[in-house]
Amino acid sequence: MNPAAVSHIVILPAPGISHLIPFVEFAKLLVSQHNNFHVTCIIPNNGSPSQPTKAIVEALPTSIDAIFLPPVRFEDLPEGINPGIQIFLTVSRSLPSLRSVLESLLSKTHLAAFLTDLFGVDTFDVAKEFNIPSYIFFPSSASVFSLFLHIPKLDETVPCEFRDLPEPVIKIPGCVPIHAKDLPDPLQERKSEMYEWFLQTVKRFNSVDGIALNSFTEMEFGAVKALQDGAEAYNSPPVYPIGPIVQTGSSSEKDGSECLKWLDSQPRGSVLYVSFGSGGTLSGAQLSELALGLEMSGQKFLWVVRRPNDALAAAAYLSGQSQFDPSDVLPDGFLERTKGQGLVVPSWAPQTQILSHGATGGFITHCGWNSTLESVVLGVPLIAWPLFAEQKMTAVMLVEDVKVALRPKANENGLVGREEIAKVVKDLIEGEEGKRLGQRMRELKDAANRALSKDGSSTRALSELASKWANVEASKVE
Ligand code: UDP
Repeated sequence: MNPAAVSHIVILPAPGISHLIPFVEFAKLLVSQHNNFHVTCIIPNNGSPSQPTKAIVEALPTSIDAIFLPPVRFEDLPEGINPGIQIFLTVSRSLPSLRSVLESLLSKTHLAAFLTDLFGVDTFDVAKEFNIPSYIFFPSSASVFSLFLHIPKLDETVPCEFRDLPEPVIKIPGCVPIHAKDLPDPLQERKSEMYEWFLQTVKRFNSVDGIALNSFTEMEFGAVKALQDGAEAYNSPPVYPIGPIVQTGSSSEKDGSECLKWLDSQPRGSVLYVSFGSGGTLSGAQLSELALGLEMSGQKFLWVVRRPNDALAAAAYLSGQSQFDPSDVLPDGFLERTKGQGLVVPSWAPQTQILSHGATGGFITHCGWNSTLESVVLGVPLIAWPLFAEQKMTAVMLVEDVKVALRPKANENGLVGREEIAKVVKDLIEGEEGKRLGQRMRELKDAANRALSKDGSSTRALSELASKWANVEASKVE
């Protein structure tokens, strides 16, 4: 094959496995659907890669290379710094090593496009130095992206904290109205460092050549249409809804065999899967209420338990999973009492295999975007239990717009109590409401399949991008 005919793409996911997964899956889709593409995945980090990260990288096909940048150092930073800032700093402190990797790649080949996500916008300066067209692959919903484009306007027009607005409803183009308390975390405190970073970041979105969204028109019709129609109004680059792009296959089949075997012995649609993403943590008090609520519901459950943290809901996001004994953190006697009813797995489980198992009938999720899309693709209805980042906004969308989730209410102490948990779990697994949500989720699953089919909306959007990149290559070679 003529090497000049190969279009070479560089992708740079921000640190965190939930950023790596969709980027890698995007690369796999691109090289499998379009001939003559090669992808290099450049991975910034601040320590040694976790076991699930290594497993994902080791399983890459030959047309995708992975390069780990040297870990950056954080000794100068205070303890307990916000994980969002850490992610952003990991990328910005990796710019010199990114520059040398790009230099080395460019000495051998042309680079047709450079893609990164929300936390990687600083890398666009480096891509620009080398004249590589830059794209965002947005790791969350079209609704959240619509909000992001709308933030500069909110910033200019709202004089106070959003949460102090007399009318507590924010209208984002193409989305259901949202209460300020459900806006993403950085918008809750306008004097914070994170808010300022956010504002400056979203203002830079307009400087890229295109935005690939991991969503699909049939799921977020209003937001996608608002983004496409409004591109001119916002003066923003073209938007390509290419999702849902989700994890295929498990990164840890061996670790998961016990829970898959356990699922094999459960009745169809009877088990509630409970997991809060790659790093979501509950407080000690909330963990106990959840345990007692699951027990009280009498329903079967498969729960990925993480060590509790009273200070930070995203506590384990970057630090990874340390080994622990679940009986140390669960209420006394819980494991013995629920022996035939549920299975508890510490820290990590093969999520997509669990969601695709016939015994799984529902999912308590923190509404991370990957978990949300995996549930859609596999047709599993949800209980929305958002913890941090943009998850509350996703919960609103899933409950009020897409109508595939129930959302339990917190009490006056901010805890979701055991009775409330038992009620929503029963409603989802054996109630009429659960049946309606299940039906709606199956319709959405079919819509996702259509979007990804040969002539589907997302396949066409990806083809448009691929031909743009192939053309860049062709015009350089001429
Ligand atoms: N995941 C998994 N096993 C676990 C927990 C998470 O395979 O025990 C995967 C999950 O399937 C998803 C990703 O990790 O692909 C979590 O991403 P998401 O966006 O849902 O949440 P985040 O980790 O960003 O909070």
